[in-house]
Amino acid sequence: PEFVAPELAVTGLTVRFAGLTALDDVDFTVTPGSMHALIGPNGAGKSTCFNVLSGVYRATSGSVRLGGTELTGLPPHRIAALGVARTFQNIALSPRLSTADNLMLGRHRLTRAGFVACGLRLPAARREERRHRARVAEIAEFVGVAEHLGHPVGLLPYGVQKRVELARALCLEPRVLLLDEPVAGMNAPERRAMAAVLRQVRASLGISILLVEHDMDMVARLADEVTVLDFGRRVATGTPASVQRDPRVVRAYLGT
Ligand code: ADP
Ligand code: MG
Repeated sequence: PEFVAPELAVTGLTVRFAGLTALDDVDFTVTPGSMHALIGPNGAGKSTCFNVLSGVYRATSGSVRLGGTELTGLPPHRIAALGVARTFQNIALSPRLSTADNLMLGRHRLTRAGFVACGLRLPAARREERRHRARVAEIAEFVGVAEHLGHPVGLLPYGVQKRVELARALCLEPRVLLLDEPVAGMNAPERRAMAAVLRQVRASLGISILLVEHDMDMVARLADEVTVLDFGRRVATGTPASVQRDPRVVRAYLGT
């Protein structure tokens, strides 16, 4: 197959905490516009990996590159500004604010005038705010939460809140989305709705997605490629079908 420069390239990534190696020389890449799943048993290092990619933890060694840009060592706000957005395993929205206001907060990084100027009602700032509100409405439409723009997020059904969280990440206009268990705790119809939205994000917006997910059905249906971690090591990379047949993966999951 012809070589396509990866959107995200993780090379030799190692993270040590006192006395514990959470990630040990891990390599993987995410091809532009693809969905790559990161799976593995509890404690395998998946969340640690997300925390390094988003700048929350610092790598002990190794590198993370976005396109050609080295992300290693940059603080979270710089990484986000360069185009890496994430969601969390537990919802991290402001429950008393409306969906629209949560999404406007998601665009904060992109505002030049800033909210102080908006508060002062400078004309340029007001124009910019209108532009952001229009984009927020488009993104809400795209993930199917437009009807809830005026509602406090905390009162929405769980599956809808998770889609608002996805919308907030999309408000950063990212190149890469890091999704931590996007369907955890959802019922079957909510899962199907989220899966449909994620397919659209990849197909229509061309955003590359790195996904941590326990639901193997979801992984098999959505992911182009899967990397399996176990005790901080990469034990396999391949298509969902090939990885599920891999004896090392079976061993990692069954613990034999
Ligand atoms: P996963 O998300 O795959 O379940 P984690 O990345 O959360 O795994 O954890 C990998 C290992 O690193 C675990 O043994 C965990 O206890 C350890 N770990 C994670 N974060 C920290 C931390 N901040 N300090 C010390 N150990 C940590
Ligand atoms: Mg985790």
